[in-house]
Amino acid sequence: MDCVFCKIVAGEIPADVRYQDEELIAFRDINPVAPTHLLIIPRKHVPSLAQLPDAEMPLIGHMAKTATQLAREEGVSESGYRLVISCGKEGGQVVPHLHMHLIGGRQLSDALG
Ligand code: 5GP
Ligand code: ZN
Repeated sequence: MDCVFCKIVAGEIPADVRYQDEELIAFRDINPVAPTHLLIIPRKHVPSLAQLPDAEMPLIGHMAKTATQLAREEGVSESGYRLVISCGKEGGQVVPHLHMHLIGGRQLSDALG
């Protein structure tokens, strides 16, 4: 599978991993847009949110729960942060493996697109 995030899951590409469990891993974005910029991804290859089967939607809750834990560890829980899932071309998704961005550590713009 020629997927950069699958290669990170497999340990074939190095990443600054901050959390892992049986279903997810989280690591620092290589091109951070803020002092805290983590990516939370399922180990399993799912191309985007649109391809996640309805029965697997609890995965999104697991990702969000993990994000709240990581936000506390990063010290941004009180100051605030943003969770983003880009989906598809016009959603700005570049890497076709489902991921959630956790972005914080500075005042974010109120523009969303
Ligand atoms: P998207 O635009 O698809 O929502 O976000 C993809 C993110 O993955 C981008 O923020 C990009 O910087 C990050 N990224 C792409 N390739 C790598 C990589 O090899 N390692 C890490 N840590 N992040 C990556
Ligand atoms: Zn993948």
